[in-house]
Amino acid sequence: MTTSNTESQEVRASSNFLRDIIAEDVRTKKFGDAVIQTRFPPEPNGYLHIGHAKAIVLDFGLADEFGGKTNLRFDDTNPEKEETEYVESIQADVRWLGFEWEKLRYASDYFGQLYEWALALIKAGKAYVDDLTAEEIRQYRGTLTEPGRDSPYRNRAIEENLDLFTRMKAGEFPDGSRVLRAKIDMASPNLNLRDPVMYRILHAAHHRTGDAWCIYPMYDFAHGQSDSIERVTHSMCTLEFADHQPLYRWYIEQLGIFPSVQIEFDRLNLTYTLLSKRKLLQLVEEGHVRGWDDPRMPTLSGIRRRGFTPEAIRAFVASVGATRTNGIVDIEMLEHFQRDDLNRRAARAMAVLRPLKLVIDNYPEGQEETVAVLNNPEDLSEGTRLVPFSRELWIEQDDFRETPPPKYYRLSPGREVRLRNAYFVTAQSVVRDAAGNVVEVHCTYDPKSRGGNSPDGRKVKSTIHWVSKAHALSAEVRLYEKLFSKPDPGDVEEGKTFLDNLNPNSLEVVSEAKLEPSLGSAQPGERFQFERVGYFCVDPDSTPGKLVFNRTLALKDSWAKIEKKAGG
Ligand code: ATP
Ligand code: MG
Repeated sequence: MTTSNTESQEVRASSNFLRDIIAEDVRTKKFGDAVIQTRFPPEPNGYLHIGHAKAIVLDFGLADEFGGKTNLRFDDTNPEKEETEYVESIQADVRWLGFEWEKLRYASDYFGQLYEWALALIKAGKAYVDDLTAEEIRQYRGTLTEPGRDSPYRNRAIEENLDLFTRMKAGEFPDGSRVLRAKIDMASPNLNLRDPVMYRILHAAHHRTGDAWCIYPMYDFAHGQSDSIERVTHSMCTLEFADHQPLYRWYIEQLGIFPSVQIEFDRLNLTYTLLSKRKLLQLVEEGHVRGWDDPRMPTLSGIRRRGFTPEAIRAFVASVGATRTNGIVDIEMLEHFQRDDLNRRAARAMAVLRPLKLVIDNYPEGQEETVAVLNNPEDLSEGTRLVPFSRELWIEQDDFRETPPPKYYRLSPGREVRLRNAYFVTAQSVVRDAAGNVVEVHCTYDPKSRGGNSPDGRKVKSTIHWVSKAHALSAEVRLYEKLFSKPDPGDVEEGKTFLDNLNPNSLEVVSEAKLEPSLGSAQPGERFQFERVGYFCVDPDSTPGKLVFNRTLALKDSWAKIEKKAGG
């Protein structure tokens, strides 16, 4: 584990039933002297998303709490969907979240052992080769209200099964022509126990084993035994596997191997978000987003690029905890944790997204000065920096109104406001373009208000940010909104798909934002609070000649409001 003590405490802070189970198993020595061992078992068929972060924090965090270890194991039993690109991105994402695995393993490491175990089950009369087609197997399986029927091949002799299975492995039969099934109970109320398929024939190249195999184990035949080989004590997974648990136990019991225990917890669901690799892959492949790491994606690589921090994600996930019923969490709660973290840590800077020129008529032409600005008012140890100030500035278009509406206290003709950390200014007149739009505001300043301090106790109602025009850097700023416009994007009307719920305005590109010059040395990944505007981070597309920033989040915290309303 690379997490420091404080970081593990984050994870420890919230209670969840998984912790209680492990604590009890440790107390009763359920696994004898074995150390607590967990695993995080992603299928390398896509990039990890924020839902996986929950599983990672539980798998790694709980093991760590009990002095145990966690393996990263790729569940790579579907050669057709799996790729090395995903294997690499998953490792990078787990490390970025702050965790280090004990062993790196692949289910495919165990293909040989699993094959041996399949032979053992055949020899024990517990498995048979079935020639029914996939469709016939489905029909024979029955339904929740009707028992299944035995396959005509169910009672094949052991010798015949051994012969057919070895020939399946040797590549004698085409895809889909035969399967190996466990012989359990065709009348079981649990459909997973009605002679589940153990192996299928698939002449497909595997990302690691290449063409060595043309039969591949099913998830259920691979997962529990892989856990067992790794002496996993607590195999935590999401609730959709609860119905598979009897089968998980059946294989382990029949084989008499290390008794790993599966425990299910609730999937993380977030409003306005889809957490399914299959659907996220579709967004990427069809070009609805710019890639897996598009900052609008809920993938870990997407939200990392957006500027989210591992600290905030861990704290969020720990706060959500684990239960035994699926629910849905407001995306605002995740954003709240992220704002909280950035508010404490992000350096402040001044940036104007939609520039309007402000000229200080009584400020001497050619003069310039620097004003001292705190780097982070939440953390005085971050010190101050000097920001250049001069006669011509950029301010936000929104900070000036020629005819101010009621309760508008920012700049307007005759009104005095504070330029942050600099001076009091009073707007005097405007310059218009041919179309009548205000393109320049002229004002006067009070030299005695230096530092933004009132010279005589008179008050101004607002403070606005600014950037010196002569010193400003231009930047592209990408503003993101939610990727979907519906709280439950998976909820679609007839004839529509989740793609119809995409928010057409999820990306707005501001091409000529103006930044204070200190931002010129900012490196990709660096995070800032642009004062009064929001949290931003430098995009990897950024170069010294062309700065590119992503908006992580706007400043407004709607979650705090939701919480307050709820009396929290
Ligand atoms: P997806 O449907 O997005 O492909 P998956 O469950 O198929 O997800 P896996 O790669 O098999 O993805 O998942 C690895 C681990 O992460 C599993 O233990 C799974 O239960 C867990 N996991 C996946 N999605 C979530 C989620 N939304 N919340 C919590 N855990 C999750
Ligand atoms: Mg899966």
